[in-house]
Amino acid sequence: MSLHVRASIAFVMWALALTLPLTAQQSAADEFNDSHFHLTNYVQEGIDVHQFLQIMGRRVSRSTLFGIPLQQQWSYANSGEFAPTYYLQSDAPLYYYSFTDAYIASLYRGLSKEEQARFDPMITGFNPADMYAVDHIKRVLRTFPGVFTGIGEFSIHKEFVSSKVSGETASLTNPALDRVLDFAAEAGLVVILHSDIDMPFAKVDAEPVYLSQMKALLRRHPKTTIIWAHMGLGRVVHPVQTSAAVAAERSPAQVGIVEAMVSDPAFAHVSFDISWDEVAKYAVASPESIARVVTVLNRYPDRFLFGTDTVAPAGPEPYYAVFNMWAPVWKQLTPEASLKVRKTNYERLFDEGRRRVRAWERANVR
Ligand SMILES: [Zn+2]
Repeated sequence: MSLHVRASIAFVMWALALTLPLTAQQSAADEFNDSHFHLTNYVQEGIDVHQFLQIMGRRVSRSTLFGIPLQQQWSYANSGEFAPTYYLQSDAPLYYYSFTDAYIASLYRGLSKEEQARFDPMITGFNPADMYAVDHIKRVLRTFPGVFTGIGEFSIHKEFVSSKVSGETASLTNPALDRVLDFAAEAGLVVILHSDIDMPFAKVDAEPVYLSQMKALLRRHPKTTIIWAHMGLGRVVHPVQTSAAVAAERSPAQVGIVEAMVSDPAFAHVSFDISWDEVAKYAVASPESIARVVTVLNRYPDRFLFGTDTVAPAGPEPYYAVFNMWAPVWKQLTPEASLKVRKTNYERLFDEGRRRVRAWERANVR
């Protein structure tokens, strides 16, 4: 049975469950806005936006809406009859699949006005190593005015992925990326940028390899609204670790790095999303890690956004699992911090993005 068919069956079973008495499915309303959501996967398949609306129900008010800019090639020479649906399932390369933007726009346009108001579609189908990337973004805005709020999630350094992408490897120092971020500032596009802070399996006390390039990039674009996805972490790009001896003199660990950035006025335009179950696993790993995360979120509640980073979830269970993993943190946040991280930071950033991108379109699209 294909993944797709399995997903469809799971969805039908879940839809049937909705006919159960209300008490069996009762849950809180307006729990969060989702700042990081993929409707489709690495082979451009996923769930319909109406299925996602049913999953959101009343628990999720609003969500970002994007696919994945990369398509995993099915290379017969590599995997024969086996059709890979994930980047770890094949040695064949990934390539940029720009049609994703037209696909997302067409789904959005098929929604009612009330349904549209719940989504912030994002442009992702560009190659950030291409000096023409910015022209793709402008073309999408001109072709589909009134739809998009931002760009991303797109990736520069991503464990196991960057090295598989066809063509030139993306870099934080590439002027092509500067052109994209300059235009995002001009048009008011909210940027969701994935770039690992470090290499996979880095050693304790090692300087995170990509941090200084990332900081330099962010400093070059003070007028761009940027959300650094997953706080720079990955599945095996674990939080930066520092031994007690070294911590005393230099290189703080992950939470210290993030705290130094949110307290530095040079990064006032930068927020962090805490999306992905791989990130949640670090946060809730121990009472100490929970306390560290709670402290920084309570201290700088305006700078963090919750997101699920789920990819085409088959039903409510996998979708809400990420939110539930954070329960120990939600419990200890102040009511103010909790509300901001779950909801109002999203509203502040994405409402402003919507407003500014519509203004750019009015001035530049005819
Ligand atoms: Zn993602």
